[in-house]
Amino acid sequence: MLVKGVVFYLESDLPSEAKFLLEDFRLAVNNAVRVGLQARVTSRNALVRIAYKDFREDHPKMYAKHLVSAFEVAGSVLKNHRRRVRKGVTCRIPYVKRLIMKAENQAYKLDRRSGIIDLPIRAGCHVELKLIVSQYHRKFLDDTTLSLGSLTVLHDRVIVAFRKDAPRQYTPESVLSLDTNERSLDGVFVVGDVANAIKAEFPEVAIIQQRHHDRRKRLQKKKAHDRRTSRNLCRREGAREHHRIDYTLHRVANSVLKFAEERRSAIVLEELKGMRPKRSKELNRRLSMWPRRKLHQIIEYKAQWKGIPVFKVDPRNSSRTCPICGRVQDSRMGIEFRCECGWHLDRHINASINLLQTAISKGMAGGLRFSPGAFQHDVMMILYDPVTGARSEPNGTSGICGVT
Ligand SMILES: [Zn+2]
Repeated sequence: MLVKGVVFYLESDLPSEAKFLLEDFRLAVNNAVRVGLQARVTSRNALVRIAYKDFREDHPKMYAKHLVSAFEVAGSVLKNHRRRVRKGVTCRIPYVKRLIMKAENQAYKLDRRSGIIDLPIRAGCHVELKLIVSQYHRKFLDDTTLSLGSLTVLHDRVIVAFRKDAPRQYTPESVLSLDTNERSLDGVFVVGDVANAIKAEFPEVAIIQQRHHDRRKRLQKKKAHDRRTSRNLCRREGAREHHRIDYTLHRVANSVLKFAEERRSAIVLEELKGMRPKRSKELNRRLSMWPRRKLHQIIEYKAQWKGIPVFKVDPRNSSRTCPICGRVQDSRMGIEFRCECGWHLDRHINASINLLQTAISKGMAGGLRFSPGAFQHDVMMILYDPVTGARSEPNGTSGICGVT
């Protein structure tokens, strides 16, 4: 089962009853966290068993299903806490500050045509939340193959989970093999006897990281006398940075997946797990693996949603091996890969060919073949670049403009 959370903003402010519910819910979650810590349990069911009765007395009017879902949220808070403790990261007793509540799918009603949510507060008291529905949202609301999952309510927006069974992957008719680098995806696209180089560049990610890093440094210096402010400002910087990088990564992933879907390609990526740059602190940060891992996550997740097959392969030596004669070079230097046998190619694209050959030798990619000799050196297909990378999808409300 695949789940996708879709954010909806509300047409008006949250009704006051709903605000009270959010506060009640937070209280219940934090109480449940304490109970869980004392009793050393983290599962929802265990929490319900231990504490439901007392909670019913403390929150006599709260809708019972909301109460159970408070235990569920508390359970996930506790699990995260336990993981951090086990890792040895010292941390305080978890406390949920944010006003947030989660309702299971039986605990609310969404009219998919009008976009109105009916949320029960307590017996005899319901509130209606009117969602702002754009073209993007319509796609989810009108798709009858999607069922509704949980609802998350925040003070200014809600997140509706849409669920569907994973679609069957198609049988690939071509392969798109991608080597993931700090500023680009470089690869090779193979269909029949023809192989072309492929590029999707996203230099903005590194630029954004650098800019925010500098800004954080500056903030820390300026607010050195006030650690609390400094920490808060830095945290906000970090959230902004993540948002901006996420935005770019999603666009890159979309262009890759659109390309693959149209050509019914399988996608080959390198397995990034366990790869850690072991260099100086400065380099570590600059070469941070985070955006690359995130990009893979987005691609894999969206591919699953669309039924596009994705294969992950071990990248060992992929940037040092000659795909023609198989020689492994000692070091990888320069922009171009050159081998004694005469083969030469852009280093990144060469790596993607090696990834592809690994995938083929493992029997992935549905029996498709590839010979490096078929590679067309003079053609480069651009999947994404920062200049033309403007959104091709309608961004929701833009469709309304220009009606006057
Ligand atoms: Zn060679």
